[in-house]
Amino acid sequence: MSLIERQINDIARDRALRYIGEDLIDIYDKVVSRTRLNFEDGVRLYKAPNLSAVGFMANIVRERMHGDRTYYVRNQHINYTNICNKFCKFCSFYAKKGGPAPYEMDMAEVKRKLLEHIDVPITEVHMVGGIDPRLPYQYYLDLLHTIKQVRPGVHIKAFTAVELVEIQRQAGKPLEEVLRELMAAGLDSLPGGGIEILSDRVHQELFDRKLDGNEWMDVARVAAKVGLTQYATMLYGHIETIEERVEHLVKMRELQDETGHFVTMTPLSFHPEGTELEHIAHPTGYDDLRNIAVARLMLDNFEHIKSFWIMNTAQVTQLALWYGADDVDGTVHEYEITYKDGDHGNKKQLLTRKQMIKMIQEAGRTPIERDSLYREIAEEPVPVDAPRTFIPLDVVQ
Ligand code: SF4
Repeated sequence: MSLIERQINDIARDRALRYIGEDLIDIYDKVVSRTRLNFEDGVRLYKAPNLSAVGFMANIVRERMHGDRTYYVRNQHINYTNICNKFCKFCSFYAKKGGPAPYEMDMAEVKRKLLEHIDVPITEVHMVGGIDPRLPYQYYLDLLHTIKQVRPGVHIKAFTAVELVEIQRQAGKPLEEVLRELMAAGLDSLPGGGIEILSDRVHQELFDRKLDGNEWMDVARVAAKVGLTQYATMLYGHIETIEERVEHLVKMRELQDETGHFVTMTPLSFHPEGTELEHIAHPTGYDDLRNIAVARLMLDNFEHIKSFWIMNTAQVTQLALWYGADDVDGTVHEYEITYKDGDHGNKKQLLTRKQMIKMIQEAGRTPIERDSLYREIAEEPVPVDAPRTFIPLDVVQ
């Protein structure tokens, strides 16, 4: 490093010290020197009173990796069934007495859903569902075939590890063989999810009928072996501790060191409405921003951190673009997993491309339309009649 560069760094550090304070300056030094943060650093970042300092450091990493670039995708969600035998306490999606009515889509229904949005140049179909042991292996193959038939060339991101274990059970074959067959039928990547948080305690208390953390990681390893791109999530804001959040991030980082197949981490803000945990308060915007920032700082081997606007709200997502997030997910045609105020009839959770662009630009970032693998989509002109009020209050949570 030249003398001038050293002097510039010293000036930046002096300024950072004034802004961040003595208690986090050692973490700042690690961030600027690209030194990996450890478990204790992660806990301190969660507990530090100065959220802006944490966001400031996350933004250094975000801008070093992506500059102002902020990614979005035009996508459609398909949730093929809400019948499920896992009864997770944090879930409002599965059919139950007093909750959502049961449904299961046949192929005609899947086709109809796809055709509803056929005029939108969607590049990704995101598909997950409940665990209904009556569904045969062929059903899952048919889902993939149907989507590719209606939308040739679309990227299918589908099936959590929990679903994959059930699909394998139905197939009666080794997971590796099943994954290869699903890929031949059209599966392109795995959305992550299914483990929520890698903690045995939380697993026991909230979702003990689902696979545990070790089993989840084994599925991820087999998926990496067959070459499937994967995405990762962390559900926070229920009964987990700060230490369990950090443990989750460290374990995901280790798994990524081992497999290299994860592209994005999405911290998911828990919505208690309609779940068995309704007594728990919803995470605040403050907590949402902190989870984005800490994920960016801890996960040095993840390329992207997503603020999923449906769960974080579009408003918090705008701020998150300065707290480490470089991705906002998508236009999301028909999302059924998390309902606004427990309203199971409201499925209109959608931002149009114009609204998405405006949301990102208003936050001072540069919108980039991407495909599922973060390849840039050639720019189309934005229609000139983009409305000034870009987020209708009735379509955001
Ligand atoms: Fe079923 Fe998934 Fe809901 Fe658990 S989270 S009850 S596995 S749909």
